[in-house]
Amino acid sequence: MSEEDNKQQEMEQKNSLILLERGELQAKEGIVSHSVAKNLIRDAIEGMKNSYSPYSHFKVGAALLTKQQKVYKGCNIENAAYGPSNCAERTAFFKAISEGEKDFSAIAIVGGKNGLITEFCPPCGVCRQVMREFVDSKNFLVILARSEEDYVVFLLEELLPLSFGPESL
Ligand SMILES: [Zn+2]
Repeated sequence: MSEEDNKQQEMEQKNSLILLERGELQAKEGIVSHSVAKNLIRDAIEGMKNSYSPYSHFKVGAALLTKQQKVYKGCNIENAAYGPSNCAERTAFFKAISEGEKDFSAIAIVGGKNGLITEFCPPCGVCRQVMREFVDSKNFLVILARSEEDYVVFLLEELLPLSFGPESL
């Protein structure tokens, strides 16, 4: 490996927000630092404030982190015809993809009736499949939070095992 490659790799490691910090929350192969998770959860909570959910009154917020440390927030957007509704996770992903983003590290998700977060809000099956299209499910982290301090971390692979992806075709 050339020196330039080494430097590039070092940079990538530095930029990667999935840090190997001992004593931090473990998610199988990667470990997300508490400060990163906390910031991302805060963004997800902020994203939830724009939720358009006049029918279910269930507000959801998501914050998607790129490997370049950019954050795309999303909220659920309902529709009077129900079918065209969109989840917060997909809103965040589609925003990012439409801006040309390709590399993602993690997504934080929060939600609750009337915006009151009492339980973890796992992503629906459709959103899991959409995530699968754009990430490496062995490295992408899904952070479910009840607060900035109270959260669990999964690899997408754990939430969508034996999945069908682009390389399956
Ligand atoms: Zn969904």
